[in-house]
Amino acid sequence: MKIVVTCPFCNTIVPDSSDEQVICLQCKSDLSDIKLLKSKALELCIKANKVRIEGDSLEAVLLLKDALEIDNSLVEPQILLGILYQHLKMYDRAEAILNPLIKESRYCDLVSYLSQK
Ligand SMILES: [Zn+2]
Repeated sequence: MKIVVTCPFCNTIVPDSSDEQVICLQCKSDLSDIKLLKSKALELCIKANKVRIEGDSLEAVLLLKDALEIDNSLVEPQILLGILYQHLKMYDRAEAILNPLIKESRYCDLVSYLSQK
């Protein structure tokens, strides 16, 4: 999974690289810590998807909440959380998360893709 870091100081988007150290192309700020946190959040997300497929929905919800606590701008854990709420028949919560994302057409495919799994 690609990790794209946005510089919090000048909003420049820094593309993923294999280097541990990430430097903003624009203002030269060191963004390595941000990348590390993001990759931790994505790891939690991947783990959550695994336990979700294995059938442990509640554990998956907890993992996704941890991931969003680290980085609440991540879209994947939000979508997975919405889908889990649907499975748990918590439709109000599911809609609150998924509806705004589905309206943004660029996430539409991702939502339907993840819903099928
Ligand atoms: Zn910057």
